[in-house]
Amino acid sequence: MNTPISRQDAVRQAATDALPAALADLGDLVRIPSIAFPGFDPAEVRRSAEAVAALVRGTDLFDDVRIADAAIPGTDERGMPAVLATRAARNGRPTILLYAHHDVQPVGDESLWESPPFEPTVRDGRLYGRGAADDKAGVMAHVAALRALRDAVGDDFDLGVALFIEGEEEAGSRSFAQFLHDHADALRADVIVVADSGNWDARTPALTVSLRGNARFTLRVRTLAHASHSGMFGGAVPDAMMATVKLLATLWDDTGAVAVAGLAQRDAETPEYTEETLRDEAGLPAGVSPIGGDSILSRIWNKPSITVTGIDAPSVVNASNTLSPEISVVISTRVAPGQAASEAYEAVAAHLRAHAPFGADLEFTDVDFGDGFLVDTSGWAVAAAREALAAGYGVEPVDIGVGGSIPFIADLVTEFPAAQILVTGVEDPHARAHSPNESLHLDTFRHAILAEALLLESLDARSHGGA
Ligand SMILES: [Zn+2]
Repeated sequence: MNTPISRQDAVRQAATDALPAALADLGDLVRIPSIAFPGFDPAEVRRSAEAVAALVRGTDLFDDVRIADAAIPGTDERGMPAVLATRAARNGRPTILLYAHHDVQPVGDESLWESPPFEPTVRDGRLYGRGAADDKAGVMAHVAALRALRDAVGDDFDLGVALFIEGEEEAGSRSFAQFLHDHADALRADVIVVADSGNWDARTPALTVSLRGNARFTLRVRTLAHASHSGMFGGAVPDAMMATVKLLATLWDDTGAVAVAGLAQRDAETPEYTEETLRDEAGLPAGVSPIGGDSILSRIWNKPSITVTGIDAPSVVNASNTLSPEISVVISTRVAPGQAASEAYEAVAAHLRAHAPFGADLEFTDVDFGDGFLVDTSGWAVAAAREALAAGYGVEPVDIGVGGSIPFIADLVTEFPAAQILVTGVEDPHARAHSPNESLHLDTFRHAILAEALLLESLDARSHGGA
């Protein structure tokens, strides 16, 4: 006599069976250079949206699948094409919104890639390629989990699902808030899964419960009306490079910690993380010391940091004996979760004005904010997600903070204040998202699909609002 297998076991089997097709489809998505930055071909982003829409249609689960865009507020431009799919809940089941993005970062210096960025390549248990992890694997985790649930439960699939696959996340999500607003009815859900974050390591799942914010701006430092020969006036008037170097140096103390009054930090426990792991994961060689005080993860998750990410100054090949009249730099501030990014910007700008050497003239432009995020971990969806992650990976999940930002989460909270937000992902610390040789750990991918399929199954078995 056959014992009937449980729904969970059927989902497990279906998720395992779904893996080869998910990998093949992921490879096809990686082949499309869907870079949404200005200066790159937007037709590739459209092609990528069409490929994603075809995969979503192929699940046969949705009432409606379309490609849509939204206006970019304050401009007459429109945002990049996103994929939007909806399926109504039945029999009093909740609705879940699954988010990921199909656009990718530019490749940077192609010579640093060990295999071509848009040629999906498997080496040592990892799939290499731009977007292989961030975030086309997030897209495919959603699609594969949906396929698995469909195959396992068939007509009993009652869960409402909205799918939103954005096309401009890496390029600043400029039409995101407008998109949410335009499609609020289609996107409204009880639970939102944002699959664009990372895991503790390749085998230990994580739920991201805090994110730092970001305040970024361009600073122009001007000290002279025009350039002149450094032999003529050097030593008597300040050149802009000298003023800039002295000014920027005031942003950190001697330990490398941020030394700006008014930048908040958050008090929270962090897991153990050794300097050895930091050296390995961040590529910090012996002989170069880490910066900042306190535990390593509280520095990354709960404290602000400041990075000078660009500088416009005479280049080395063009260097002449000249006093530069002006220098521009881009300053990127990571903001502790809980502090508004605009408030952090005001603190940094006030610090720079107060420390401008020799009366140098400062100008602030291209100011860009993204607020951090703290997850409310008390809801039923967080409990369900923890259980599904533990079952999917075979290892208890860890609550993590993330030093980076997902600014659009603040927009989700604004538009859907009642929804429970789960921030998950397919990356591990070696994924090198945004860098050359980006890759996806194939075991993580397998476990992420299973965990998400099990989460969908448990929500599908749950009455709306009840137990
Ligand atoms: Zn991403």
